Amino acid sequence: MKVNFYGVRGSIPTPGPATVRYGGNTVCVSVRLSDNSLIVLDAGTGVRVLGDELIAAGTLPDPIHLLITHGHWDHIMGAPFFGPMWRTDAHILFHAMSPRAEAGIKKMVLFDGEHFPVRVQDIPAKLEMPPFGTSKLRIGSATVSQIFLNHPGGADGFRIDDDDGSSLCYLTDNELAPPGPMTTTPAELAKFAAGAGMLIHDAQYLPSDMPQKRGWGHSLVEEVLDLGKQAEARKLVLHHHDPGRADDALDRIAVHARSWARSNAPKLDCVVASEGMSFDVKPG
Ligand SMILES: [Zn+2]
Ligand SMILES: [Zn+2]
Repeated sequence: MKVNFYGVRGSIPTPGPATVRYGGNTVCVSVRLSDNSLIVLDAGTGVRVLGDELIAAGTLPDPIHLLITHGHWDHIMGAPFFGPMWRTDAHILFHAMSPRAEAGIKKMVLFDGEHFPVRVQDIPAKLEMPPFGTSKLRIGSATVSQIFLNHPGGADGFRIDDDDGSSLCYLTDNELAPPGPMTTTPAELAKFAAGAGMLIHDAQYLPSDMPQKRGWGHSLVEEVLDLGKQAEARKLVLHHHDPGRADDALDRIAVHARSWARSNAPKLDCVVASEGMSFDVKPG
């Protein structure tokens, strides 16, 4: 499968000279399966660029599969600017992999007449929103599974297993050591992500952010490295960067992650997500 990063920032877009290398768009990742189906993970501001690329390519994938982890602004605010929304030949499928997701999709808060000028019924694209059925479903050549994450208000994590043997696990936003009761333990998450060709995880915080931001629903880089090791993922991508993290600080995190892996998990390839990154996730 081919994985492209269109937005890697958490919380709020961060344009400006200090974030130009890693990028300022909020989270959006595209996945092309072996049968060429397209899955879009989150619709942060990065989804605008993906939409432009799809339109420029000529024929739109039919349908475009959308999986949204949860309804926090940084994960949905790009949706009104996703070009295919404004095309009558587009077919967009919103998948609800939990009852919470189904309720969020039904609400369509961005298109309620208050948050954006156009209401949902006036969007030109064909939108399909099947009700929640099961936490495991088939999309194109892949089986997609859901897991509940530790995040205020709830969030869904996803694992995509393509029939060609390649796999991707997308876990954001998630707090690996929350102060209160845990929805899903790190051991359960490691099992869910076991052997993934790529594990993408929220790594928003550093120890200097604590204790102020404990309970906000995000993880420390160190905790995420440990999860990557426990899961025995092949590649670990640190994602959903704090809006206050400038490029130089992310460079330091990348150096630290690689040196940590050399000593603690030599087979784990650690990468700090940046906008425009593209990977072929190989089977196995
Ligand atoms: Zn977020
Ligand atoms: Zn969130």
